[in-house]
Amino acid sequence: MSGYVEDLMAQVKGKHPSEPEFHQAVHEVAESLSLVFERHSEYRAAKILERIIEPERTIMFRVPWVDDQGEVHVNLGYRIEMNSAIGPYKGGLRFHPSVTLGILKFLAFEQVFKNSLTTLPMGGGKGGSDFDPKGKSDLKIMRFCQAFMSELFRHIGPNTDVPAGDIGVGGREIGYLFGQYKKLRNEFTGVLTGKGINWGGSLIRPEATGYGAVYFASEMLATRGESLQGKTCLVSGSGNVAQYTIEKINQLGGKAVTASDSNGFIYDEEGINDEKLAFLKELKNVRRDRIKEYAAQYKNAVYEAVDPHAAGNPLWDHPADCAFPSATQNEVNEKDAANLLRNGVYVVAEGANMPTTYEGVQVFLNEKILYGPGKAANAGGVAVSGLEMAQNSMRLPWTREEVDARLQLIMKSIHATCLLTAERFSTPGNYVNGANIAGFLKVADAMMDQGVV
Ligand code: NAP
Repeated sequence: MSGYVEDLMAQVKGKHPSEPEFHQAVHEVAESLSLVFERHSEYRAAKILERIIEPERTIMFRVPWVDDQGEVHVNLGYRIEMNSAIGPYKGGLRFHPSVTLGILKFLAFEQVFKNSLTTLPMGGGKGGSDFDPKGKSDLKIMRFCQAFMSELFRHIGPNTDVPAGDIGVGGREIGYLFGQYKKLRNEFTGVLTGKGINWGGSLIRPEATGYGAVYFASEMLATRGESLQGKTCLVSGSGNVAQYTIEKINQLGGKAVTASDSNGFIYDEEGINDEKLAFLKELKNVRRDRIKEYAAQYKNAVYEAVDPHAAGNPLWDHPADCAFPSATQNEVNEKDAANLLRNGVYVVAEGANMPTTYEGVQVFLNEKILYGPGKAANAGGVAVSGLEMAQNSMRLPWTREEVDARLQLIMKSIHATCLLTAERFSTPGNYVNGANIAGFLKVADAMMDQGVV
């Protein structure tokens, strides 16, 4: 069966040569699925994986916009409508200068499996732009969002494709995007998730990805009769996912000692308690400043700048029990993975998408630590987006307690499904195989039912 994976990868690389992150995501899934194809040749015969690999539709467009000084800018806009076998396309929008077609294809591909795991009826998609929101005024952000939506609006809809936020797209951007969609379409629908609470948003949506990742880690720990109580945790990032990961770690009696941005990280041995977290949220969400300021405010914390071209990231080289990579793709390499294990880490729950390189993942799998891959561990965000869609359809909001209870149930269910599936395919404890295979089977069966379309 390894010949199958090699042949498939040769085809993917031949067709799409300059998309290394996409190759990495497909490779990992194909390796897991070779276990399925050994038992079920029907999926291979119907070329289900070959079909999932190709987006149903790729939309690329220019985004011309005028800034507040009258200067004209041109950015690239994308929406990858990857797979709609089990529901409308669903997945975030990323605004970051590193955005390329290949990055969005890897994210859209991962999203198909993740959404399938949530138990909710959502297909997979992803989109975004190479626009850099960092340091830009609210007016510039609004003008860009309006220009972006002036093209995107004709491709999306509450029953077709429902985008949400991702890196660089938070509540502010979703607001501007929603406003422009509503103006162009003249209708108030649940076309985006992550909306404000007064205009169709769901309680717990901002918290959902971070909370979900911590619930997933708790489930993994429970398989060994343990909990997060008293555990020291390394967290990367300081955006949406990282903030609510830290919040939930604190609530469950753990201690988060790191946070980062693209310039560097802080190490606070005493822990980022609730007061310090409130400062961090203000710093990042209101002042939109750098993480370095945390160490200026709290003298016991140490700030270290990080060279992205160095062999490893020193953030991952501190004594801890758990790690929550919550910034971006490939932020944990083989050396970082080895450092984590050497420092005592035995639980890794990925808040970010594909934050660990292929080689890093092998280190975790070989050591049989509790390793929750992103498509399972960070599925809480899109799950609550699915609950936001349900509330929008009913035109009825649920309480905070109700949404949180559903989120916890979904994360429990994803965890149990991954474990059971890994065991069924003779790789007990391997959450990577469990997530890839369980996510695939639901989509694959729907595609088999629906014919070659
Ligand atoms: P966010 O609010 O924009 O925060 C991103 C954080 O990561 C920031 O601290 C950012 O620092 C840092 N970062 C971004 N690019 C980086 C790089 N190249 N090197 C180092 N740090 C970098 O985004 P988010 O929503 O928290 O998303 C974080 C991760 O979670 C992404 O992988 C995203 O795909 C994934 N995710 C998000 C959700 C969701 O609901 N939001 C759901 C599932 C998965 P700077 O400020 O310096 O850029």
